[in-house]
Amino acid sequence: MTNDANPVTPARSCGTCTLCCKVLEIAELGKPKGAWCKNCRPGSGCIIYPDRPQECRTFHCGYLTNPDLGEEWRPSHSKIVVMREREGHRIIAHVDPQRPDAWKRQPYHMELRRWASISTDQVVVCIGRRTYMIFPDRDVDLGILGDDDRIVSVEQLTPLGVRLEAYKVHKDDPRVRGLAEQTAARGRPIG
Ligand code: SF4
Ligand code: SF4
Repeated sequence: MTNDANPVTPARSCGTCTLCCKVLEIAELGKPKGAWCKNCRPGSGCIIYPDRPQECRTFHCGYLTNPDLGEEWRPSHSKIVVMREREGHRIIAHVDPQRPDAWKRQPYHMELRRWASISTDQVVVCIGRRTYMIFPDRDVDLGILGDDDRIVSVEQLTPLGVRLEAYKVHKDDPRVRGLAEQTAARGRPIG
């Protein structure tokens, strides 16, 4: 788990929300994405709070840290936990598997597309391991993302101009390293 490095926005707190304890992977506990942590009492909190793993201690979701996200993004309401990964170069919307279409509702879907249009960062939706890449004009279903899978996005020349495409590839696929190097050279994160 990684998170937004920004401080928590004043006047925002978790309250009774516990959604990150469900949607996120917790490596220290061997907890997969999309399943409640066995230490969580939904709507109440963590029963091992003083002894919770370090990754839980340091995590703050985008709702807490980004004042530009409106109140509609409170995870307990939206059923979506927004965060950054890959050193801040990927925006991920982790969706409650019990509400798998939450990201398709408005204003969330419109906002995800807007972020994809104004940012060079990847915008990704995860429902457990089911993964979608969000582009300004469409969503690409990448299927189930395994531990050894990576996402690459590439610009392809079509008769209608340049079009971004996204693929799921094995971590050893040369496109992962090649694209990362190209990206680093021109300062645009991919992979
Ligand atoms: S998802 Fe965000 S608001 Fe909800 S419990 Fe986790 S950190 Fe707090
Ligand atoms: S250990 Fe506690 S804080 Fe961490 S995921 Fe489990 S319930 Fe949440």
